[in-house]
Amino acid sequence: MPILQLDKVTKRFGGIVAVKDISFALEKDEIVGLIGPNGAGKTTIFNLITGVYNVTEGNILFNNESITNLNPVLIVQKGIARTFQNIRLFNKLSVMENIRTVLFREADYNLGQVLIRTPKVAKVEKQLNERAMDFLKVVGLTEYAKNRADSLPYGFQRKLEIARALALEPKLLLLDEPAAGMNPEESLELVDLIRKIKDMYDLTIILIEHHMDVVMELCPRIVVINFGEMLMDGSKEEVQNDPRVLKAYLGEDYAYA
Ligand code: ATP
Repeated sequence: MPILQLDKVTKRFGGIVAVKDISFALEKDEIVGLIGPNGAGKTTIFNLITGVYNVTEGNILFNNESITNLNPVLIVQKGIARTFQNIRLFNKLSVMENIRTVLFREADYNLGQVLIRTPKVAKVEKQLNERAMDFLKVVGLTEYAKNRADSLPYGFQRKLEIARALALEPKLLLLDEPAAGMNPEESLELVDLIRKIKDMYDLTIILIEHHMDVVMELCPRIVVINFGEMLMDGSKEEVQNDPRVLKAYLGEDYAYA
């Protein structure tokens, strides 16, 4: 049984068809690349899966249950988390607080208890801080825990977004251009990090990425979108060698590299 299934999904914005009749399914533990030229509809697909946009036509199933047009918060609770192409951290909060924002569900005390700071509050707070630190440790950011999020270099902010997504305890993780703005060395580190978290947290992953080296390193299977439509869904070797993909996306340089 697939963990995620898109069945003839279409999204229109007025007259623009951003995503047209897209169907694909992911088995548990897969890591699939989602590629295509700028404006192909990749981020729109993430927005449809996560409930940010309503689907115009079609169906999305998660663990065989329809999540089509559900509230985004419910979709997170069902086990789907994401990172964003344009980093969306709470800039003025510390690195640690950015993780804490998604751990609030575990803070089972009330305002009264907070105001007089009962021992229970102190205990839960300590536990939450430790949990947040655990996630920061996984992405290698513990030493920056007290720094403001926007003081971090770009690559570290992307890792913080990943840590925050992990703190939501997802089963399916959607990564939207995690290597954007990273230098080659940082990209390599990111590849290792994605492998590590996939194993540690038993994740299924969809990766949107323009850095082809990252996609080829991580994804045995790749879905290619072009002008909102499915161009192909195949192994990385098939995709690498398909003339339509080379033409639409990879370009001559990559074809002969
Ligand atoms: P990139 O690689 O540049 O991020 P993408 O493949 O993620 O591109 P999308 O951002 O999904 O592409 O955009 C697909 C199409 O849908 C584009 O033509 C875009 O202008 C359009 N689109 C996306 N969101 C909206 C919106 N909220 N309103 C209108 N059109 C939109």
